[in-house]
Amino acid sequence: MKIGRICLQNGETHYASPIGELGNIMEILEGDPFQGIYPTGRKESHFKLLAPIVPKAILCVGLNYRKHANEMGTEFPNYPILFFKNPSALLNPREDIVIPRNLVSTKVDYEGELAVIIGRTCLNANRENALDYVMGYTIANDVSARDWQSKERGGTQWCRAKSFDSFAPMGPWIVTSDEIGDPNNLQISTSINGERLQNSTTADMIFNIPSLIEFLSGDTTLEAGTVILTGTPEGVGAGQVPERWLQTGDQCCVEIEKIGVLENGVA
Ligand code: MG
Repeated sequence: MKIGRICLQNGETHYASPIGELGNIMEILEGDPFQGIYPTGRKESHFKLLAPIVPKAILCVGLNYRKHANEMGTEFPNYPILFFKNPSALLNPREDIVIPRNLVSTKVDYEGELAVIIGRTCLNANRENALDYVMGYTIANDVSARDWQSKERGGTQWCRAKSFDSFAPMGPWIVTSDEIGDPNNLQISTSINGERLQNSTTADMIFNIPSLIEFLSGDTTLEAGTVILTGTPEGVGAGQVPERWLQTGDQCCVEIEKIGVLENGVA
């Protein structure tokens, strides 16, 4: 099942499921994805698509694809590298990523990522049962201001660089686990203005989804509604020759097999 969220013209927000691939028509759902959710038969075509979840927390894993670690010139980590994105950075599909103007950045980068949605309280999961805690998957763009990620500005802390408003686009909808099958066997790509710059598979992850959940839930409660960004493959702007930073007017499309396309402009 695909589960998105929409805002109708009267201001009501609902969970809703796309009819067909484009999501121009959505069927209203009743309930919520954590307790149980049901189609109502009511279809809507005039709405604004929202991020499919308001995350409890956004946990992110850095340098989790082999070829991306290579392009960044870093060794493979021994443990997953954890950082957080402020949930207030959440951005709806089709809305614009905003380049920071007060803490000026000239090196805003895209990172297409598979996002895992935790469906029930998860503590000390193991690799064997980890996927039982997953409600579904969506697409995220871990937008990153590389200059604010650097040693010169804040000593390589990543939360600053990755938590500016609008730096967490998510969507267009969650696809439930039963429809995804193996989350480590999905094609993932990112295009800027139609040019495909990232093109990989989630099979290239250094730590696969079950081992990430095992690690992240170790002595650490992951509440239902926690979102895990699982790292980005090679081909980020920092890895292009010459480097390729997001500019006003750019159009970012992150596509993941079985889920869809997350589209955002840049302003
Ligand atoms: Mg990332």
